[in-house]
Amino acid sequence: MFYCAVSPFRFSVAVTAVLAAGLASIPALCQNAGAAVPSSAPGLRVFDPSLIDTTVDPCNNFYRYSCNGWFKRNPLPADQASYGRFTELHELNRLHLRQILEQAAVPSSTRSANEQKIGDEYASCMDAEAVNKLGLAPIKPELDRIAALQSSSELPALLAHLHSIGVNAFFSLGSNQDFADSSNMISFYNAGGLGLPERDYYTRTDAKSIEQRQQYVALVSKMFTLAGEPGAQAAKDAETVLAIETRLAKASLTITEQRDPQNLNHPTDVAAFEKELTHFSLADYVAAAHAPAAGKVNDSEPSFFAEFNALIADTPIEQIRTYLRWHLLHAYAGTGLPESFDHESWNFYSHILNGAEKQQERWKRCTSRVDRELGEALGQAYVAKYFPPAEKQRTLEMTLAIEQAMDKDIDGLNWMSAATKVKAKEKLHAVMNKIGYPDKWRDYSTLEIVRDDSLGNEMRARAFESARDLAKIGKPVDKGEWEMTPPTVNAYYDPQMNNVNFPAGYLQPPFFSGLEGDAANYGDMGSTIGHELTHGFDDEGRQFDRDGNLRNWWTKKDEKKFTERAECMVKQYDAIEAVPGVHLNGKLTLGENLADLGGLWLAWLAWLDKAEAAHLDMATKMDGYTPDQRFWIAYAQQWCTQTRPEQLRSQAQGDPHAPDEYRTNTVLQDLPEFAKSFSCRKPAAMVSPKPCRVW
Ligand SMILES: [Zn+2]
Repeated sequence: MFYCAVSPFRFSVAVTAVLAAGLASIPALCQNAGAAVPSSAPGLRVFDPSLIDTTVDPCNNFYRYSCNGWFKRNPLPADQASYGRFTELHELNRLHLRQILEQAAVPSSTRSANEQKIGDEYASCMDAEAVNKLGLAPIKPELDRIAALQSSSELPALLAHLHSIGVNAFFSLGSNQDFADSSNMISFYNAGGLGLPERDYYTRTDAKSIEQRQQYVALVSKMFTLAGEPGAQAAKDAETVLAIETRLAKASLTITEQRDPQNLNHPTDVAAFEKELTHFSLADYVAAAHAPAAGKVNDSEPSFFAEFNALIADTPIEQIRTYLRWHLLHAYAGTGLPESFDHESWNFYSHILNGAEKQQERWKRCTSRVDRELGEALGQAYVAKYFPPAEKQRTLEMTLAIEQAMDKDIDGLNWMSAATKVKAKEKLHAVMNKIGYPDKWRDYSTLEIVRDDSLGNEMRARAFESARDLAKIGKPVDKGEWEMTPPTVNAYYDPQMNNVNFPAGYLQPPFFSGLEGDAANYGDMGSTIGHELTHGFDDEGRQFDRDGNLRNWWTKKDEKKFTERAECMVKQYDAIEAVPGVHLNGKLTLGENLADLGGLWLAWLAWLDKAEAAHLDMATKMDGYTPDQRFWIAYAQQWCTQTRPEQLRSQAQGDPHAPDEYRTNTVLQDLPEFAKSFSCRKPAAMVSPKPCRVW
């Protein structure tokens, strides 16, 4: 739910934060077959002995031991807040997408409808000169609409319109599976309306946070000035924005509280919800949004909506207009508005908050924009060119092997009762494996893309997505739908769908390769498959049953044992100081940490089975390493990442994933099997004195 820009509410969990998170201006090989060609860049390997630093003791710091060579070869690029192996592949995929887009952008009568759309969308985005020349003209009708708001009784219709074009003002409405009945798509009303990354940015009282809020006010003020306001007025208006957002933030759940689905489960219906909102006509809003006027809805955060209601009653209308104006500018301050807006937005969100030194080149941002807005049209072309069908089969085989390992592992758990084991296995056997790309591609035929209208294209693309999302309410659930686009270097588990999803863009070196042995592939991509599967059984996922309903299938005793074991990991990660004065949040990162540890363990078990079946000689070295050592090194090498201190701070405060160094070392410290492979003994740093273990 925290990653997908197009869908405001999702409860799925990714293997890593969305690449370049915080960098966007806006808060989002082997065997050939057919036309497909190998997509690997030369030099990207899953297990790469040339990256190992043999001067480091593997029992002291395995991350440094496995990655120092990569760090030396890969200085942090100025346009990145962090750069790791995920970014390495992300950048390669982006180059491939660029080739597709540049070709599609050449006007021709033989272009397919999708080629016209992705090509012209890219061309319109790339034409910075035309965008600059138009200035505010393309967004003027929207600014005028806001300026025409005279009373709060007109707000619902205006807000519905702004939401439809992707403006995150006050709250969001989207479709989502009912927590109680996952086969039913209902309306979800979600807290929103913040311009800073999340609620605690408004409430923290340390010096750095206070400074960041001042810098945020300066950004808002600057944007108002660029939009034509006199300086003094702009400064005053920026304070108004901060005051309104602070009120909304204080009424919102923390990101840690949001991780518990019970905290977000407040079913009601349109009529009852309307009664709560005494100063905001929900009937007017749903009519303008073309959402169902009756039926079940989820009020995700009742305290937030109570405060929103109060705020509408006691805030002067000119302040509401100011707030909306900011969110409109903020939503389009990327490639759709003149570069001056784009640059200010980058300066705050990427440079100040995350440490990037240089804005990414326009082609990179435009490629990402087409991927975001027309992801399955671009993805279809990408898959045809770069994803051989054999990769799908190989990944499926590995996924099945790891599911089998989990089945066996559940049998052997000494802390879980037989009754809960039966339920856990039922859930495991019901997991749906989705690999590469959708079976049925999204139809963009009703979306109009015009070659010389960058902002208009962006607006129509968002309206298309919003309408597509709301149209799902009341319809059967589409289990074949994807939340990530095919070229994405990431993966996710969705607890309400009970499925795992591995996009094509991820299934290549340095994470997976048909040219590598099983030890490397299981240590790397295998651990990710295990990670996603384990999400179905982490502190959040375990609350959903085999069908994706929020229904407790645990005995009280087993639940208590799970919580006790999980608490060991909460403490373990709470103790880590990521940057001076900022510790990791053990509760926020618990789901990911459970998935990392459980996932690697499952990959290990599956690989051992495979090695045994193949009568693999465990003593024979290749490149100087035994098969089990290659397994652990491949695991560690996927996480080689350089991160700027600003980004590390943002990540420690708000990312449910621990920084990559801990995703390597802390996880391995808990596994005696790792220690055995490298003959590490207490009191070595890589051997935890009190290892944690859940799955
Ligand atoms: Zn994850």
